[in-house]
Amino acid sequence: MGLFEAHVLASGSDGNCTVIESDGEAIMIDAGISCRRIMALMDQEGIDPSSVKAMLLTHEHSDHVSGAGATARKLDIPVYCNVPTFESCTLGQIDHRPISTGVPFELCGMRITPLPTSHNAADPNAFLTETDGTRILVATDTGKLTYQVEHALSLADLAIIESNYDSRMLTDGPYPPSLKRLIGSDIGHLSNVACANAIMRTRKEGRKIFLAHLSKTNNTPDTARDTVARIIGEKRFNIDCLEFPGDTRTIRARA
Ligand SMILES: [Zn+2]
Ligand SMILES: [Zn+2]
Repeated sequence: MGLFEAHVLASGSDGNCTVIESDGEAIMIDAGISCRRIMALMDQEGIDPSSVKAMLLTHEHSDHVSGAGATARKLDIPVYCNVPTFESCTLGQIDHRPISTGVPFELCGMRITPLPTSHNAADPNAFLTETDGTRILVATDTGKLTYQVEHALSLADLAIIESNYDSRMLTDGPYPPSLKRLIGSDIGHLSNVACANAIMRTRKEGRKIFLAHLSKTNNTPDTARDTVARIIGEKRFNIDCLEFPGDTRTIRARA
């Protein structure tokens, strides 16, 4: 059994990009920052660009796809996403490989299952990746956890899960009422408390938790970590997230 790890290169409303590496081969999930930035961050994290064999897209929002076309062309790799997502974004000339929500497929020795999320997008997905019985879940941009994502969370050895906003900060914050309502709705984003409750409902021994897609306006790394740690009864240094713009993280699901 080889190395299985996630590199979080960017996470949040300014852009999302995660690379999942299994035994020297890798897939990229979302590319919501510029191609130039992705290449620089991969260099910083020690990821060999030629090891990245494919890109997967969760949904069409620009913080997930703004650099997707350019990066796929630069790396000369195919883009896997479902047809509604593909038809909702403009990627330019790319090699699109259609996938279907709920239908697993194999890539780079990994079994990948696209799972439905609950979000204001055409057909948004979370991805569960698995090799040799070890599983990494990437689940963001979901107003509530669908049954399928909650089940995947109960199976995951590493869960990169959305902890988007603090309810008080959202309520008191500067967003217009309509946007506040959307973010807080079932097709918006997951709050710190909702994230913590989901972790509690799906307790798993040894599972690593990484908080993702934190709002810059309606959350802080400290608030997210403190809230989740308090609810799940963990020490706060056991709960990780990106700390500042340009921060990256490599997390091993298996050594
Ligand atoms: Zn989104
Ligand atoms: Zn997003």
